[in-house]
Amino acid sequence: MAADCIFCKIIGKEIPSEFIYEDEDMIAIRDINPKAPVHLLIIPRKHIRSINDIEACDEALLGRMMTVAKGLAAKEGTDQSGYRVFFNVEKGGGQEVFHLHLHLVGGFDRS
Ligand code: 5GP
Ligand code: ZN
Repeated sequence: MAADCIFCKIIGKEIPSEFIYEDEDMIAIRDINPKAPVHLLIIPRKHIRSINDIEACDEALLGRMMTVAKGLAAKEGTDQSGYRVFFNVEKGGGQEVFHLHLHLVGGFDRS
């Protein structure tokens, strides 16, 4: 756990937040400021600053985050209509919270 990290505080339940998914390695929450009808954040329990800081030992974790994203997209009903998954990396990449998290955004009406 990193001091003054909002996502570590959410994971540690110091800040209340509804976990829509959790396992031993990660949690998922709804983004507080959603940019789409479905906007989830998949957050590893391990404090990793950004994609720039991942190591070989994190490869399985990152792969599982993708599998969890796929399952959550289906649960949210956006798997067939489509969605985006992405990491923002550092300030220039739009990152604002410096604890790794995978965005899942979907539920768009492009009909
Ligand atoms: P970033 O720009 O770092 O990739 O994305 C951070 C995201 O976290 C933003 O979309 C922002 O709305 C969301 N966020 C920031 N603080 C909180 C919070 O306390 N709770 C939740 N659920 N989302 C947060
Ligand atoms: Zn953290």
